Amino acid sequence: MQTFVLECGSAPLLVSLPHDGTFVPEEMAARLTAPARALPDTDWHVGRLYAIARALDASILRPYASRYVVDLNRAPDGAALYPGRRETGLVPLRTFADEPVWREGAAPDTTEVSARVDAWWRPYHAALAGELARLRRRHPRVVLWEGHSIRSQVPMLFDGRLPDYNLGTAGGASCDVALRDALGAQLARFDDRTHAVDGRFKGGWITRHYGRPQDGVHAVQLELAQCTYMDEDSFAWDEDGASRVQREIGRLLRECVRFAAAAGPA
Ligand SMILES: [Zn+2]
Repeated sequence: MQTFVLECGSAPLLVSLPHDGTFVPEEMAARLTAPARALPDTDWHVGRLYAIARALDASILRPYASRYVVDLNRAPDGAALYPGRRETGLVPLRTFADEPVWREGAAPDTTEVSARVDAWWRPYHAALAGELARLRRRHPRVVLWEGHSIRSQVPMLFDGRLPDYNLGTAGGASCDVALRDALGAQLARFDDRTHAVDGRFKGGWITRHYGRPQDGVHAVQLELAQCTYMDEDSFAWDEDGASRVQREIGRLLRECVRFAAAAGPA
């Protein structure tokens, strides 16, 4: 069974959208609580937002399954991303609204969790690693862009309202400082936007695991506040907001391509 879509481009840029999926197999969906069945913690519409990456000839990787099936941006052994803080796990048990995801007694046991890792997590990561390797053979440096979005207010995870744009580079470890600075400078030029660099969101497992600047792989995560392009309660796409965000994302992605191209031909 195909569990993801990979569109291969020729630019030194791979956009990965691990929380874009909304598919839940029927037997799992029957075990979700009513609030969870609406999949509220999806990175809504990021596939649509990042469609603009095609114009740059970037590669784009998107999963079919919801993060409630298995979270592709967590370690496969379930290790915490931010030890000591509340967060959702490899298979989430609580929604961001702090409600149970699974009906009483219906949460997956460890055997089922590892079966989900084999069926959904491993294929996505094999595709991600394979595509990075293919691009690296063509380019001396490549950028892995982790595209995410989240409600602007999630008391369980952070205080107050999130800045509009949250760039994460594992505190500077997942990419060259020149790329982080160039992206930070772009963000500072966006009118009426708030932003943070390595603030609350420093990059999840994918950013930290694949970002190997010394090997020519530079990983960056963008956590976007959903209020910039959609209605956070109905999950409806907001055409005006979204087209502005698409233009801004386009500027950030072009910065990545410029950075990668600056390394010269392979
Ligand atoms: Zn996400």
